[in-house]
Amino acid sequence: MIRLSKSSISEREISAVATVLKEEFLGLGPHVQALEKDLNAFFGGNVSAICVNTGTSALQLALQDIGIKSGDEVLVPTLTYVASFQAISATGAIPVACDVNEADGLLDLQDAERRVTKKCKAIMPVHYASNLGNLEAIYAFAAKHHLRVVEDAAHTFGSSYKNKLVGSFGDVVCFSFDGIKNITCGEGGAVVSKDQAVIQAVKDLRLLGVMNDSDKRYARTRSWDFDVIDQGWRYHMSDIMAAIGRVQLSRFPDEFKPKRMLFAKMYREMLANIPGIKLFNTDVDSEVVPHIMPIRVLNGARDGLREHCIAQGIQIGVHYKPNHLLSKYAVPGVRLPVAEKLYGELMTLPLHVDLTQKNIEQIVEQVNLFLRK
Ligand SMILES: *Cc1c(COP(=O)(O)O)cnc(C)c1O
Repeated sequence: MIRLSKSSISEREISAVATVLKEEFLGLGPHVQALEKDLNAFFGGNVSAICVNTGTSALQLALQDIGIKSGDEVLVPTLTYVASFQAISATGAIPVACDVNEADGLLDLQDAERRVTKKCKAIMPVHYASNLGNLEAIYAFAAKHHLRVVEDAAHTFGSSYKNKLVGSFGDVVCFSFDGIKNITCGEGGAVVSKDQAVIQAVKDLRLLGVMNDSDKRYARTRSWDFDVIDQGWRYHMSDIMAAIGRVQLSRFPDEFKPKRMLFAKMYREMLANIPGIKLFNTDVDSEVVPHIMPIRVLNGARDGLREHCIAQGIQIGVHYKPNHLLSKYAVPGVRLPVAEKLYGELMTLPLHVDLTQKNIEQIVEQVNLFLRK
């Protein structure tokens, strides 16, 4: 069985967790602070990273911190994991589903232009399959319409746009460290921003809104006489998770990043000549460290090819069912034709760092075999 995705855990993560367990202090503490410092250094020192328990809560807190509230609207591409939509609706705001570009699966700004209203306060671009597309155009659109930008960068950890790491610039950028992302904490996420008001708010709101509690917890104490002024949540990261994340981050540059890039490059080169397969454009402006490998299967052959691959022991995914097709987020009369068309064509091939070059060849061979029949 070739898995679609998986965590890559070495003896180093295991012993880092064992060390924390033996300290018998398992909540938010110095290991979380150490991971945040490592991330700050990774992003170059001009932004701050605050860690939370999931990528979804990172997005929700980011939205709350920029002032998104009940009745506001947030533009978001429909082709994303439901986490993006749930994070928006958790704040009481309305996710306004936008169509995507056929060429790259990213937010279609012309469609967003048609849907933006006075109630709209933010835009959430999703870096689908780790591509950034024309990120400058997103920021120009946001400036024109006076919107804040919360980037859903769950797929893009470690990628660069015009030689700048995603997260090291921009408004508010959210990452996920769940089990299958480019680095994992087991579960986890981070809000990254240069906006210190946002950063301070994340630090408080992840600990039930208890003001300035994070700094005490880093030192393994806590506040007893405190104030709370806003709705907070139990969204903090634990030291156990941070210990995993620190090892993963140290393995990223020389181990995870080159492997993901190599496997995606091999896929692209070998799939390019197979009739009936269409690949998304990859960015020319970016250095992409791919999280997933979605392909388009034309001429109605997707389901057949998917079944063939599964029968050959190759796990296949579909990223994603467009969110406007879900009962919770459907709006009567709203059709997003590009995303709906892509949904019938998309399938995701295995991509993780424990694959081998031979695995990639075997997978492409099966795709080829089926489509040439
Ligand atoms: C994984 C993911 C998230 C949420 O991250 P979790 O850590 O799983 O909560 C959000 N958006 C996208 C596009 C994702 O792939």
